[in-house]
Amino acid sequence: MISSVTLNNGAKMPIVGLGTWRAEQGKVTEVVKVAIRAGYRHIDGTYVYQNEDEVGVGIRAMIDEGVVKREELFVVSKLWCTFHVPSLVRGACEKTLRDLKLDHLDLYLMHFPMGAKPGDNLFPLDEHDKVISDGSNFLDTWEAMETLVDAGLVKAIGISNFNKDQMEALLNKPGLKYKPAANQIECHPFMTQEKLINYCHSKGIPVTAYSPLGSPDRPWVSSDDPSLLEEPRIKAIADKYNKTPAQVLLRFHIQRNVIVLAKSVTPHRIKENLQLFDFELSENDMKTMMSFPERRAFSLEW
Ligand code: NDP
Repeated sequence: MISSVTLNNGAKMPIVGLGTWRAEQGKVTEVVKVAIRAGYRHIDGTYVYQNEDEVGVGIRAMIDEGVVKREELFVVSKLWCTFHVPSLVRGACEKTLRDLKLDHLDLYLMHFPMGAKPGDNLFPLDEHDKVISDGSNFLDTWEAMETLVDAGLVKAIGISNFNKDQMEALLNKPGLKYKPAANQIECHPFMTQEKLINYCHSKGIPVTAYSPLGSPDRPWVSSDDPSLLEEPRIKAIADKYNKTPAQVLLRFHIQRNVIVLAKSVTPHRIKENLQLFDFELSENDMKTMMSFPERRAFSLEW
């Protein structure tokens, strides 16, 4: 049984989840099946990964084969930026539900606090390569997301890539009906997010860490970017516990009470990434992992 974090609606969110970004079509159904069979109960995806249909086939197969019950799974998706205009929110959620072949999501996140021009182009850019805004305000988008909870399409709503100012604006929104249930942000030893995590926790908002391994397969990675998985100090810590660098990088979050997503399409790694509950990093090792210079894997330039 994987340990979990309790959300503000009382739901338990498993502290380790399977990431599905860049889990290619044609592969991802099998990946989801391997993961659920290995014990994953939390699956993270979104419309913009363009693979929710196949993720849904994997989930449905595992339910139909009796490997897992729907209520044992915690399924997360995200509202993409081109659907921020309030009238588009429900349709976007329903499309995700159809693709996943589910009648509700456990958590639906606003993927980014910025809306982009609606249309078929998921990344509408201007001539300077800046995202073309849809002119929406994320507070209005949030209000539309609140109606999804009332309609029973989602059990909880949350945010992703929100900084403290954006969170404050949301928490202080007049008439706020549902507080965000979680904030999903980039987090790893090159981006420890200490202040933002402390802020979220002080407001009773759990944090989910994305790209915990430094997202080595991100499309814009360059050969001189430092690799967390190859970092000598991380490797030394891993050797000490007879664990892999990936396991140490994932365990780091659990000890901070942060939910962690790990993406892999490789069966032995999917299993390895769940073997995190039979060791504990010392305070000193945690300190070492908190002490690297900051380096984002993702740039949030809009
Ligand atoms: P991760 O940090 O999880 O890294 C994934 C990469 O690490 C893949 O190349 C994978 O290879 C490799 N890997 C996985 N396990 C191991 C292991 N045990 N040993 C060695 N290499 C390993 O990157 P992501 O950026 O994918 O982040 C995780 C998830 O977070 C995403 O999939 C997505 O669900 C979510 N996310 C959310 C974002 C947001 O804006 N809210 C942004 C980015 C991610 P392979 O697959 O080939 O095995």
